Amino acid sequence: MREFSNSKSGDIVSAIARRIVENRAYLSDIDGLIGDGDHGVNMAKGFSLAAERLRGEPKSLAASLAALGDVLMTEIGGSMGPLYGMMFSGFADALDGVEEIDAAAFERMLRHGLEEVQSIGDAKVGDKTLIDALAPALQAFAAASAKRDDFAAALDALVVAAEKGRDSTIGLVAKIGRASRLGERSRGVLDPGATSCAIILRSLAEGAKAKLGASNPQ
Ligand code: ADP
Ligand code: MG
Repeated sequence: MREFSNSKSGDIVSAIARRIVENRAYLSDIDGLIGDGDHGVNMAKGFSLAAERLRGEPKSLAASLAALGDVLMTEIGGSMGPLYGMMFSGFADALDGVEEIDAAAFERMLRHGLEEVQSIGDAKVGDKTLIDALAPALQAFAAASAKRDDFAAALDALVVAAEKGRDSTIGLVAKIGRASRLGERSRGVLDPGATSCAIILRSLAEGAKAKLGASNPQ
C-alpha cells in the first residue's frame, strides 16, 4: 500500500509511549553521564500520562499526536517538555485534515515537526541534541522517497539515518543545553535527546509500516 488511514492510526502513538516508558531507566542513565539524569523520568512521565489520556475511544493519528504534544508542552519539565511538545504538535498540525497519509504527507509531517523544534530550540545538526537524529531522518526519508516511490522503503531509510545520527552524537561536543556546560567532557557519550528521538522515530516508522501492510525486520 502507498498510504494509510489517519483516522485509524492513533494507536501508533500509544506504541511510541510504551517504548519510551520501557526505556525510562536507560534514558536517565545516559542523561546521568552528561546531564542531570532526569531525561528518562521526564519522558516516561509525559508519555505515560498521554497514553492514559488516549485510552478508550480510538483517535486519529493527528489527534493522538496533538494530545501527546499538549501533555508534553504543559505538564513536563526539563528541556524536553517544550521541545518534544513542539515536535509532536508540529507533526499533528501537518496531518490535520489529511485522510490518507502517503509519503508526501509523512514527509511534510516530519519537516514541520523539525521546524517547530528549531523555532524554539535553535539547535543545528552537530550541536549534540535530538536534532542530530531528527534532521538526518527527515533528509533520508525525503531522499529515499524522491528516488524510489516506495513508502515502506523510505521508512526503513529513516530509521537507519535516525540511529546513525544518534550514534554520531558520541563524537560530538554539546553546543547547546545543559550538557554544553561540560565542554570537551561531553564528548564520548550518546546524547540522551538524540537517543530518545531515535526510539520515537523507529517506533513511528514501524507503526506506519505495519499500517501499510509492510513487514518490520526484528
Ligand atoms: P534537561 O536538559 O533540562 O535536564 P532533559 O534531560 O529532559 O532536559 O533533556 C536533555 C536533552 O534535551 C538533550 O540531550 C538534548 O538532546 C535536548 N536539548 C536540549 N536543548 C535543546 C535544544 N535547544 N534543541 C534541541 N534539543 C535540545
Ligand atoms: Mg536532564
